[in-house]
Amino acid sequence: MIKQRKHSAIALFSGGLDSILAVKWMQKLGYTVYSVFFSTPYLTPDKALKSARANGIELIVRDITDEHLKIVQNPKYGYGKNHNPCIDCRALMFQLAGKMLDELGASFIISGEVLGQRPMSQRFQALMQVSKGSEMKDLIVRPLSQKLLPDSKPILEGWVNKDEMLDLQGRGRTRQMELAQQLGVIEYPSPGGGCLLTDISFTLRLRDLINHGQDNPLQIELLKWGRHFRLSPTLKLIVGRHKNDNFGLDQAAKDLPRLQIRDVPGPLGVLTASDATQEELSLAASILLSYCNKAPDPGAVIYSIDSIESSQIMAHKRSKDSLAQYIISIE
Ligand code: SF4
Repeated sequence: MIKQRKHSAIALFSGGLDSILAVKWMQKLGYTVYSVFFSTPYLTPDKALKSARANGIELIVRDITDEHLKIVQNPKYGYGKNHNPCIDCRALMFQLAGKMLDELGASFIISGEVLGQRPMSQRFQALMQVSKGSEMKDLIVRPLSQKLLPDSKPILEGWVNKDEMLDLQGRGRTRQMELAQQLGVIEYPSPGGGCLLTDISFTLRLRDLINHGQDNPLQIELLKWGRHFRLSPTLKLIVGRHKNDNFGLDQAAKDLPRLQIRDVPGPLGVLTASDATQEELSLAASILLSYCNKAPDPGAVIYSIDSIESSQIMAHKRSKDSLAQYIISIE
């Protein structure tokens, strides 16, 4: 019979094995755990929801796009290998979880961080920076490694018994696998991946947006699809690479001007502003034609706004080499 504990916790839940184990371990000890996933344009909740469902974990999803945009632009602790401000990001998540404590009637915050597992965000010093940056340092418990970490208030006050915490560390996964078996965790995603800020191609596009002061939620959403071409400081063309891109662009860019090749099935083109000059429209049409083998040369491109044809542009295809000066992401 599990003894129900007086104090409950909010868990930062990513959907990965470590966060599942942290939640399950605390539940096994008798704590009520509220699992929260913080959603951003770079990391959507789909995988976490699936993983939570598979493991019988009820998940609260909160969108933190606005708060997250600020740290992506100017992180106090810098970036990882790409544009991933992991320390600031983790600190923000703890901070926001801290703000939910009263709402959920919880007393402290847990996470599945494992000392020394990730080079940037889980070194001892990084974990301490995360705690400090979150302003919730006193209320954080990391059940998988807490035996190796400084005591926080839940330990000092006896809400959590340190002896019941674990001492996992390093990059090996053997102990996690054993623990998963012990706790009956059988379904979990493979480690890593998921966050677009760790993706080199996405990062290049995002940096371009930031450099041009256009890093708003819609423009960031559009980075997920197609090839991106910068035509001027205020204008980009996005060209779908396949059906999936065309569909994604169509859904995300409902209010933006479109380019489509007349009478030939081909890529969807989206312009990120509606004030393109005639010269920019010709350039955009020629780029679009260049990515459609079936299109004639010269070809006719329809420019439409709100699904209403506004004009037709005749343009020539260009060589792929001549497009290199406009393309933002690497292929
Ligand atoms: S990988 Fe992405 S979501 Fe994860 S901590 Fe880093 S920036 Fe945040």
